[in-house]
Amino acid sequence: MTSKNNTIDTIRQLLHNANNILLTSHIRPDGDAVGSLLGLGLALMAVGKDVQFVLTDGLPSTFKHLSGADQVITAAKEDFDLSVVVDCSDLERTGGSLGENQPDINIDHHITNLKFARHNLVEAKAATASIITNHLKDWDLPLTLPAAEALLTGMITDTIGFRTSNVTGETLRIASVLVDHGANISELYDQALVTRSYAETKLWGLGLSRLERDGRIVWTSLNNEDKKLAKFHGKGSADIINLLTSIDDADIAVVFLESDNHHIKVSWRAKPPLDISKLALSFGGGGHAAAAGADVNGTMEEVTAHILKATRAYLKNGILPANQISGL
Ligand code: AMP
Ligand code: MN
Ligand code: MN
Repeated sequence: MTSKNNTIDTIRQLLHNANNILLTSHIRPDGDAVGSLLGLGLALMAVGKDVQFVLTDGLPSTFKHLSGADQVITAAKEDFDLSVVVDCSDLERTGGSLGENQPDINIDHHITNLKFARHNLVEAKAATASIITNHLKDWDLPLTLPAAEALLTGMITDTIGFRTSNVTGETLRIASVLVDHGANISELYDQALVTRSYAETKLWGLGLSRLERDGRIVWTSLNNEDKKLAKFHGKGSADIINLLTSIDDADIAVVFLESDNHHIKVSWRAKPPLDISKLALSFGGGGHAAAAGADVNGTMEEVTAHILKATRAYLKNGILPANQISGL
């Protein structure tokens, strides 16, 4: 047996031997964080396990239609005998949902994953939800309709509707399994990627009005004042970065989001074959070749200047083609 097969088998045993399983993911959760969390948790509930869904920042309203969404809590409330972290490249990104405890299981698809748990299943797939979908059978867990809906939402969001450069035939085959189990792809797509609140759209407007460009880099910022003006109460940036990536005369897009605790959340997107993940990692963040992020301390002015300088230098001198990345 390879060590990967060992890990998959160990995870199966741990999941079945546990009774109360804590599932958690990263701060400012995206669709893959939510979909992976609920998808795995709902499958575990279907075999009689007690499950706690813990997201430090709570559930974004975009995903409230999914089964189990109303069970998401922001801090663990009971003892648990097994912990699983999904879609999270480092432990700090859980926002402290596990306290000082080392997680038992880490299931993730980020090339920058720090393998922080006792058992780490890290595969370079298009979404963590696709790793979970692929292994449910190995783990003797049923792919119920609610689980399939959550997992397909994870795949749809992380691939922005199956149009990121890491989408392969395998990605579509895994998604087709979810559709075959009854998940309604057009409805889930619409709910996850098309439907927007007025506040989110207003926030886009404020961000777009401040759009800037220097050579092949475009960027904008969102501060707390913008959120107030737009009456946007979410933690994230309403995915405004996805709008910036549609600009054809730019190779790198960056969004600076003012966050609590004197730091700025930086989001990068790069067009293939550029690899932005190592730049994000050098700022203590992480991600993928084409999409990465970091939380950087400082004021908006300081962080913007610093990050843009580093991004320019990286674009000019330091770019690695995505296919040279090793480590997985
Ligand atoms: P975002 O820009 O937040 O949409 O994130 C893009 C990608 O980078 C996602 O796969 C995130 O999980 C990852 N990422 C974002 N911020 C961080 C961070 N502070 N640390 C590690 N990974 C991050
Ligand atoms: Mn994520
Ligand atoms: Mn993901």
